[in-house]
Amino acid sequence: MESTDFCYMTERTGKHMKDILYADVVIDISHEALDKVFQYRVPFSLREKVIPGVRVCVPFGRGNRETEGYVIAIGRETDYDPDKIKEISYVVPGSLSVESQLIQVADFLKKQYGSSMIAALRTVMPVKNKVRHKEEMTISLGISLEQAQQLLTSWEKKHYCARVRFLKRLLEKGTILKEEAVKECKLSMKDLRKLEHEGIIHMSTKVLYRNPFQDFRVMEQSVCLNEEQQYIAEDFQKRYLRGEQNTYLLYGVTGSGKTEVYLALIQTILRDGKQAIVLIPEISLTYQTVRRFYERFGDQIAVIHSRMSMGEKSDACERIRQGDANVVIGARSALFAPTKNLGLIIIDEEHDNAYKSDTSPKYHARETAIFRAGLAGASVVLGSATPSVESFSRAQNGEYILWTMKKRAGDASLPDVLIEDLREEFQKGNRSVFSEVLYAKMEERLKKKEQIMLFLNRRGFAGFVSCRNCGIVVKCPHCDVSLTYHRNGRLRCHYCGYETAFSRQCPVCKSPHVAAFGLGTEKVEAALHQEFPEAKIIRMDMDTTRRKNAHQQMLKAFSAGDADILLGTQMIVKGHDYPNVTLVGILAADLSLHGQDFRSGERTFQLLCQAAGRAGRGQKKGEVVIQTYSPDHYAITTAAEHSYDLFYEQEYAYRSLMGYPPCAHLLVILIQCADESQAVLTVMRIQKMVQQSQQDELDTVQILNPGEAVISKLKDMYRKVLYLKHKDAERLLDLKDRLEPVLEKHPLFAGVQIQFDFDPMNFY
Ligand code: ADP
Ligand code: ZN
Ligand code: ZN
Repeated sequence: MESTDFCYMTERTGKHMKDILYADVVIDISHEALDKVFQYRVPFSLREKVIPGVRVCVPFGRGNRETEGYVIAIGRETDYDPDKIKEISYVVPGSLSVESQLIQVADFLKKQYGSSMIAALRTVMPVKNKVRHKEEMTISLGISLEQAQQLLTSWEKKHYCARVRFLKRLLEKGTILKEEAVKECKLSMKDLRKLEHEGIIHMSTKVLYRNPFQDFRVMEQSVCLNEEQQYIAEDFQKRYLRGEQNTYLLYGVTGSGKTEVYLALIQTILRDGKQAIVLIPEISLTYQTVRRFYERFGDQIAVIHSRMSMGEKSDACERIRQGDANVVIGARSALFAPTKNLGLIIIDEEHDNAYKSDTSPKYHARETAIFRAGLAGASVVLGSATPSVESFSRAQNGEYILWTMKKRAGDASLPDVLIEDLREEFQKGNRSVFSEVLYAKMEERLKKKEQIMLFLNRRGFAGFVSCRNCGIVVKCPHCDVSLTYHRNGRLRCHYCGYETAFSRQCPVCKSPHVAAFGLGTEKVEAALHQEFPEAKIIRMDMDTTRRKNAHQQMLKAFSAGDADILLGTQMIVKGHDYPNVTLVGILAADLSLHGQDFRSGERTFQLLCQAAGRAGRGQKKGEVVIQTYSPDHYAITTAAEHSYDLFYEQEYAYRSLMGYPPCAHLLVILIQCADESQAVLTVMRIQKMVQQSQQDELDTVQILNPGEAVISKLKDMYRKVLYLKHKDAERLLDLKDRLEPVLEKHPLFAGVQIQFDFDPMNFY
């Protein structure tokens, strides 16, 4: 390997030729113009004040017009002739606008998660108002009634027909809309402007925002908080009034009434003129959730989600910026809503994977929320029935304040859970999808007209397709993943969308014994039809919910009692409340257990608890049957006992033994390249750089198995990965900061895509 000199990377506090700072300034902060960056010199007197986010005044363009802009980055290097660079004139006083805050958040994303500043800014900046808002223009009289009468008489004499028509109507109605004046009275816009200029009329415009909640109604407050809820609401209020700014972890079992608590907390800060952001995993952002908030806060709420049109999104942002909307509800990206007066950020289901972005910057909404709240002087509330190991450990060591709710609200109690060993079923000769116990319980519920939810952590008709003769698994030619069999007789890649016809003949040994294995929702549905021909079934998975609103419609139908059984993947386990569901069946609990991943125990526990939590949320007691091949795994036994504490104890012990987050930190470097040998070389080069850079250090950053990613090829790009581990997050971030500029600029890395991920959600 070549002895490339990366020594400049090791220079951490090195001296610089000239101690001059340059600021990158954007003049137009709209989403579209963010990459138009101008460099300015930072005068010595302003060094302390010029940081990312501040608004500055700069001489701009040929005429050096005094123009305001935002500083997005500071550096010591410049790409231009230093003598020609102009200087920042001054920092705009009191420039802590929402934009400033969001730029600081972008700077945080860049530093914490590793990405370009432009990518970070695009993440936090709301879309520009390209869409024209619908406007309504109203016309009223600008003169007294007497004067208007005189005018009318004189116009009549002059036979000004259109004007007469117009003025008569205006006198009659008080105000009229512009459309009416133009279309019915036949006045032109020019005429109207003239009348306005003469002071005869006033014209005023009002922006009409789209109202997405037409069918919702504000309700009188109906529930009375129970003791646990009341304690939390009061504790928050007390601390809020004292001016405390905290991160709280609300750990409340499923059905304990966390939403009521959120509503109470929001009310506290609204009374004080502040705004709140509520994050919800996209998948549970349904009309049910939104309705609960709407019923309490009415038009004060704004919803932001990915299926909105640009116009709707921009309307929502405008209402938030104007302070017309004070409660923002949305998925991950709603975290960047332009709230000027932020008082509280709530993250519901804080353990959910959806809070981690899967595109660069790969930020986690939890950490980012805490940072944003810090800037705004706001508090953060994280809520979950199964808190992430990260959050719970921070609550344990006092970093977060822990609130606990152990009881279900109202009269409901937690369901009884049975574990069924599928190995025993197999030995008994039961080849069906359902264990005897689950089958019997389903039969009973169907008779009693109670509802059933069946949960399968898989989609498609079956899993992979393989040859029974030679054992080869049929894979996607562009990705290193097995293809999935669908009932329409086609094989599909869920990563790149590649499709091909299923063939019984093995592509390698030509034997005719290629078949599909595993269990999918389609196969279970077929089995249900066979075993319970009378039952009405709704199947929900990625394939049946592709259409807009399909997800909501299906849940609504199930909630209305249109079906006896709701069968589905992950998407059915979150946040829905069906009082008539008394049985939940988890068909194969281990499916999520065998991912080669340090979080798979945690993920399985969470899924089981959430799924089990759907049962018995009404007056009737619920039951849960967990079918599994690993009945002794702690993730399964602790979930069956509803014991987060026991689970946490074992999981934490495992993480600390293995040195995984939160006990240590991981920095992932993902290398993607169309040329495999180039990718391999890159991994070796980076590994060497890391080793060289810490030659003189004792407590070195550990480099784990450099090599192939779990998915070694994706969309024809070879994927290699390097894991760096250290107890101390700062050490890894510092290393990243030193690697980043070299990886970006050094010609050896041209043509290779390099991404960072800090404390990943899964292995690459
Ligand atoms: P979680 O989010 O903790 O799973 P929810 O907020 O969905 O729980 O509440 C579960 C159910 O309990 C809901 O139907 C809710 O209306 C009801 N509930 C919540 N608080 C109370 C209360 N204080 N009294 C009676 N019912 C309540
Ligand atoms: Zn074969
Ligand atoms: Zn593919």
